[in-house]
Amino acid sequence: MKIQTALLSVSDKTGIVEFARELAARGVRLLSTGGTARLLAQAGLSVTEVAAHTGSPEILDGRVKTLHPKIHGGLLARRDSPEHMATLAQHHIDPIDLLVVNLYPFRETIAKPGCSFADAVENIDIGGPAMLRAAAKNHGTQEGGVTVVIDPGDYARVLAEMDGPAKQTSYALRLELATRAYAHTASYDGAIADYLSSLAEAEPGQDQAPQRHPWPRTLTLQMRQQQVLRYGENPHQAAAFYTDEPLGAGLLGSYRQLQGKELSYNNIADADAAWECVRSFDTTACVIVKHANPCGVAIADTPLAAYRQAFKTDPSSAFGGIIAFNRPVDAATAQAISAQFVEVLLAPAYDAAALAIFAAKKNVRVLQVPAGSAHNAFDVKRVGGGWLVQTPDNHQVAAQDFKVATHKAPTPQQMRDLMFAWKVAKYVKSNAIVFVADGMTVGVGAGQMSRVDSARIASIKAANAGLSLAGSAVASDAFFPFRDGLDVVVDAGATCVIQPGGSMRDDEVIAAANERGIAMVLTGARHFRH
Ligand code: 5GP
Repeated sequence: MKIQTALLSVSDKTGIVEFARELAARGVRLLSTGGTARLLAQAGLSVTEVAAHTGSPEILDGRVKTLHPKIHGGLLARRDSPEHMATLAQHHIDPIDLLVVNLYPFRETIAKPGCSFADAVENIDIGGPAMLRAAAKNHGTQEGGVTVVIDPGDYARVLAEMDGPAKQTSYALRLELATRAYAHTASYDGAIADYLSSLAEAEPGQDQAPQRHPWPRTLTLQMRQQQVLRYGENPHQAAAFYTDEPLGAGLLGSYRQLQGKELSYNNIADADAAWECVRSFDTTACVIVKHANPCGVAIADTPLAAYRQAFKTDPSSAFGGIIAFNRPVDAATAQAISAQFVEVLLAPAYDAAALAIFAAKKNVRVLQVPAGSAHNAFDVKRVGGGWLVQTPDNHQVAAQDFKVATHKAPTPQQMRDLMFAWKVAKYVKSNAIVFVADGMTVGVGAGQMSRVDSARIASIKAANAGLSLAGSAVASDAFFPFRDGLDVVVDAGATCVIQPGGSMRDDEVIAAANERGIAMVLTGARHFRH
């Protein structure tokens, strides 16, 4: 069944004129709504306005444009049902074979600061979703059915199939596009429900930007499958990776795998931790992650220097690690990395020479992740029978906001190391203790139930790696509840400490710092991570 009649009604008019021209060139008759029809007519195309086609004008400021039996009959009649086709003929309804619709930009509208309630409501598309759902329902059989397109990125595929040997779209494409149409209308209605359920007032003023509660009563998560994974955290668990729909920019979800074995569940989880940490640095940085914890982080003038320093922190843990850079990886860095066993590499870009070096190590998963400033709107954690949802930990304190709590103030060099240690501590599972010297981690204690144990482990690890903690800086992700943790890090060689403060025993801890002759700064904010 060839496409003979197409209905085009789009808010995002990207590529629509070119697509319509190609359709017209293939003898397809074009129907269209007001704005879209005008655009096509201006481009010299012959187009019939839906209002003329139905004999019913667009009314109620466009609220009713396409809600008409001539449209919905044309979309919904089963092509394989003689009765349906006879009914169309009886009522002088033409079948519509191709529907091209994208909806009023509801999400974009409500994202605008100061968007009035009336504006939000007017951007709830009614006829568009109705047509999408009708066309998608009638995607048909192998013999034929309605093709529904929501994404300008699919125009070329439809044309390619129309030009193929069958001269019509395949069932596989129609089914895929129908599925996407339903996912789209579901997420669209989800966004509307989320918005309405976030309104703080019972009856918001029409012309005003309504008060919105940050947590709507319903929260729609739209997840698009990126890939089914071999297995989950353990081989007896099944797993898949889903990304946000629509995708946020600059997130791990938009990675491109350039080479290597398929990513596993643990790879993705660890890669995310590494990427979030490395992209928090403005200067050139390298982060090595193992089991979701950074086991080496460094900033330096070049990626190679940063990698070498990060690796030194804990060479045995770095074996089989996930390595992330916030700068393009060059050949020298690639050469150094290929001397070790690495599971996953992440960077915003790779030199051709670097890729040539990795090509010799077929298993290494090389990911290119777009640099970007976007963050997830919220974090979600599954608990029995529900979800915990929170805003992500984007808190940043500037050095000038740090409060020096001790008689001794940190030197500028110590301050730089404290800043660095504080940034890293945010990405280490609690309780986190991070020793730093000259822009590199020299001991990381992670995930212990007691802070003093994390401190002990960090110093043991430094000793194992042959690193000296004398004169080092230390960050603690939350306050020291007692002076014992502080004593452990000073005994190990630390001469300055950064921590949130706020403990009942702050006085005792500050007195201990003064007694030990170190400098201590308080950030006023903690970074628990579980
Ligand atoms: P145009 O710019 O062509 O005037 O309008 C295109 C938009 O109108 C599309 O986003 C489409 O989804 C939407 N639309 C089509 N029919 C109707 C309808 O009957 N009611 C409403 N509210 N929107 C419609």
